[in-house]
Amino acid sequence: MRNIRALQPLFDLAKPGRRATRFPKSDVPEVPLTKLLPATAIAEQPPALPELAEPDVVRHFTNLSTLNMSVDTHFYPLGSCTMKHNPKRNERLASLPGMLDLHPYQPEETLQGMLALLYELQQMLGEIGGLPAVSLQPAAGAQGEFTSLLIASAYFRERGENRTKVLAPDSAHGTNPASAAVAGFTAVTVKSTPQGFVDLADLAAKLDHETAVFMITNPNTLGMFEPNIKRIAEMVHAVGGLLYLDGANMNAILGITRPGDFGADMMHFNCHKTFSGPHGSGGPGAGPIAVTSVLAPYLPAPLVVREDAGYRLDYDRPKSVGRVRSFFGNVGILVRAYCYIRSHGPDGLRRVSENAVLNANYLLARVKHIFPVPQGDRCMHEFVASAAKLKTDKDISAMDIAKRLLDYGFHAPTVYFPPIVREAMMIEPTETESKETLDAFAETLFRITEEPAELLHEAPHTTSISRPDEVRAARQPVMISPPPGSP
Ligand SMILES: *Cc1c(COP(=O)(O)O)cnc(C)c1O
Repeated sequence: MRNIRALQPLFDLAKPGRRATRFPKSDVPEVPLTKLLPATAIAEQPPALPELAEPDVVRHFTNLSTLNMSVDTHFYPLGSCTMKHNPKRNERLASLPGMLDLHPYQPEETLQGMLALLYELQQMLGEIGGLPAVSLQPAAGAQGEFTSLLIASAYFRERGENRTKVLAPDSAHGTNPASAAVAGFTAVTVKSTPQGFVDLADLAAKLDHETAVFMITNPNTLGMFEPNIKRIAEMVHAVGGLLYLDGANMNAILGITRPGDFGADMMHFNCHKTFSGPHGSGGPGAGPIAVTSVLAPYLPAPLVVREDAGYRLDYDRPKSVGRVRSFFGNVGILVRAYCYIRSHGPDGLRRVSENAVLNANYLLARVKHIFPVPQGDRCMHEFVASAAKLKTDKDISAMDIAKRLLDYGFHAPTVYFPPIVREAMMIEPTETESKETLDAFAETLFRITEEPAELLHEAPHTTSISRPDEVRAARQPVMISPPPGSP
């Protein structure tokens, strides 16, 4: 208020009696609300919204968004999750009004462009997987697994076979046994060999005429391509079972080999891992499935079909397991997958996989003298290193390293998965990372192993919170940003 005298001329102008500001009358007609909305849709009282200043709201959400790491802000070698390159071009294309301003209840004649896109995506995924019949409906890999197991159920029911078991290796992602249980099967675990491959003797012992499906991830969660895959497919088929390919690791084999060619009957794709859909914290995803022509009749309805008159949604599928998600699936992510696949083309997709494999092998070669990789000297798009020796020698755990990496501006790798490797660190570099970034990450790992264990036990030191109770944080998230002025 010290400068109030400087404002005096303004106050003089604002003396009572001055007339209020007037604007010329607008030519833009005012439309009463009752003309825009049916009377039943108009609230009698304004809703009780919290009264906040706009800058406070904008700051709240902007600050919240910076508390997290993402592929746009940090190197993010989160194994299994495949933090894929997210081309900005995809975002522009998916935001075009022709993509965004559609409603799924529009008449099909007015959705022809989108239906063409979805139809072509079905075709291209069928070609990539070597399995001709595709449904885009499942919203995630896990839902693709579940849907495929429903298809297996329907298939065996129609054949009059009562098959109750679904097998998966002990290296499988937790969603495999979970999907089996939710679909009504008993989940049975098959052992891995010390090299990380399916133990064929154990598989043979567990396969029988009650086996509906063997679920295999190939390349597996250790980042290794299963060399016995054809033999495994034969063993499963010999007892009348189906082979399911968990396609979460398709990023490593695009255009190089196809699940349908190595014996799979059904599979899912994770568009958010393989075809560049941005993801994090559990969403958003798309988990299309592809199956053999024998299993095609059971796919969820509707499918997009092409006829002389144009594209149409086909609901007339009497053997279908039904709908697993509203409308046509998670279309926003499917559009990004389409743009990614089309813009790379078949040769480009193969190069994507080659780069993913090259980057992972480069990092493996750089770190293995300090972090042994129990399953070998070569990997596909990811590898699982072990901090077990560091734990014994220096009391430094995989968790300590993961937490300390945050202080250096790197997202942590996946730790303690798969559970068959002690002090597991599952490292998967994005396929588009530069050599400089990979080197900086490797050198930071080495540096951390030289730091005092006590410092590491308390890490991270630079983040707004340190080591939360992760289970409670997931169940009871506290969604507030730090108050202004706090460190
Ligand atoms: C990520 C993943 C899944 C589950 O996929 P979501 O899309 O996250 O549901 C299944 N299996 C493996 C091997 C995975 O990495």
